[in-house]
Amino acid sequence: MLVSIDDDKIIAGFTTKFGGVSNGVYESLNLAYHVGDSSQNVRQNRDILASKIGAKNLIFMEQIHSDFVMEYSGLNLPPCDAIFTHLKGVGICVMVADCAAVLLYDKKLGVVAAIHAGRAGVVSKIVSKTIDKMGSNPKNIKAIVGPNIKKNCYEIGDLDLGEFNKFKDNAKFDINGALRAELNTLGVVDYEFSDICNHCNERFYSYRRDKITGRFAGFIMLKG
Ligand SMILES: [Zn+2]
Repeated sequence: MLVSIDDDKIIAGFTTKFGGVSNGVYESLNLAYHVGDSSQNVRQNRDILASKIGAKNLIFMEQIHSDFVMEYSGLNLPPCDAIFTHLKGVGICVMVADCAAVLLYDKKLGVVAAIHAGRAGVVSKIVSKTIDKMGSNPKNIKAIVGPNIKKNCYEIGDLDLGEFNKFKDNAKFDINGALRAELNTLGVVDYEFSDICNHCNERFYSYRRDKITGRFAGFIMLKG
């Protein structure tokens, strides 16, 4: 587990492949049910993460590469790709294996968000939409972008990305460049990007590298 922040207010970070109970291609801390792993093992892996971060419960989204942003207030969530919450002790999570997990913390409002930002999410500006829906002033936001597929590994062919074509170079898409530009445009000044490429680094699952594989997670929780 890589923890980016653990202070008196929040805990936020990213899991690795290690520390869980799954076997074979899912070894070992796979957090996703939809990838073919045993549900019993995934449930146990999620419990391991919850107890590691001291969460009463963990909330995962049914992610669909959309730009839907939902507030989690204790009720069931429809499929979406970004959630935010004011609730304390609830770890909100985003599952990834190449896409970027973006975590936000509004230091003034005491709200946290977890965002699934792959190519589709980035191109639809899901981070901007989340900050907007949180009602946050971007100046109060701390943003953390986890390990994800870096430009040299992210071949997307001749796909037309509209205004985001400027982040394409030789058929490769720079997710992090696009996210950094978006944060800068919004006026978010407090942000950090992991320099790890999960596609190169075997400590993380990568869908593009392994096809049948698990998912790691970005998580963020308000303590208390
Ligand atoms: Zn790489």
